[in-house]
Amino acid sequence: MKLLLIVGLSLLTNNVVYGDIGQHVLQDKNMPLTKSVAIIGGGASGTSTAFWLSNVFPSDGKIQVVSTIFEQSDYIGGRSTTVPIKDDDSLGTIELGASIFVEANKNLMTAAKKFNLELTQLTGVESARPGLGIWDGKELVFEESGSYWDTIKAVWRYGFTPMKFQRKQKEVVEKFLELYDTDYGFENIAKIVDTLGFNSLFNQSASDYLKKLGVNKRFSNEILQTATRGNYCQDLNTLHGLAV
Ligand SMILES: Cc1cc2nc3c(=O)[nH]c(=O)nc-3n(C[C@H](O)[C@H](O)[C@H](O)COP(=O)(O)OP(=O)(O)OC[C@H]3O[C@@H](n4cnc5c(N)ncnc54)[C@H](O)[C@@H]3O)c2cc1C
Repeated sequence: MKLLLIVGLSLLTNNVVYGDIGQHVLQDKNMPLTKSVAIIGGGASGTSTAFWLSNVFPSDGKIQVVSTIFEQSDYIGGRSTTVPIKDDDSLGTIELGASIFVEANKNLMTAAKKFNLELTQLTGVESARPGLGIWDGKELVFEESGSYWDTIKAVWRYGFTPMKFQRKQKEVVEKFLELYDTDYGFENIAKIVDTLGFNSLFNQSASDYLKKLGVNKRFSNEILQTATRGNYCQDLNTLHGLAV
């Protein structure tokens, strides 16, 4: 009788084994299995996790997933936002994080396309090219004119460092892209860095790293540091190697 009951129950139920605790969920086979997922943080990572979970497990599917995003602030988007400088609207706004989207940032680019968000040109870029200039505080040390002379001027001033740096940058970005293909998560950034084999970049300043790479000081100071100051408000000697 006991055996019959068990057989009968197992015919009626979804028999899902929860690996870690060796338990079975017993419920009507025709009822969808509902799982709850808690997502901490409503930035690009959290919101795209919720979105893709809802795609993998549609609401009319056999397994239904109810995602709840827990967010400590009162808006969605995390660092992809701007805030008033010194909390004073009259001073303008400053970005907290993502504002320039590159193809390598697949979550943000995919979301922008999927939701038909309009990607605008970086303000001023069109008008800034040709005519990019590097100002060292006293004078314009490099200036583009829009002609083929620009390349010659760049090689004259920075040697072949820009090409060398671009090759290295491509290598690092390609390694980063491997993260999108992993089928497991990471508990913290240190584990990501470890998996990618970037520990050596993480453990030294950007300026030391660039020196070891053979990137000349002038290119580091005038081009790279200009970018890190603009993006992170930091000089190369206060950033770790991975940041460049
Ligand atoms: C200065 C700066 C400039 C950047 N510029 C660019 C750029 O131009 N282009 C680009 O593609 N990327 C840029 N990035 C990177 C980009 O902002 C990040 O890759 C992206 O925001 C990461 O998304 P995320 O969801 O992982 O984290 P976040 O956007 O930081 O979101 C995390 C969310 O989790 C919430 N949270 C944290 N802890 C808890 C908790 N315990 N409980 C509840 N909620 C919690 C936070 O409030 C936040 O909303 C920049 C980053 C910085 C710092």
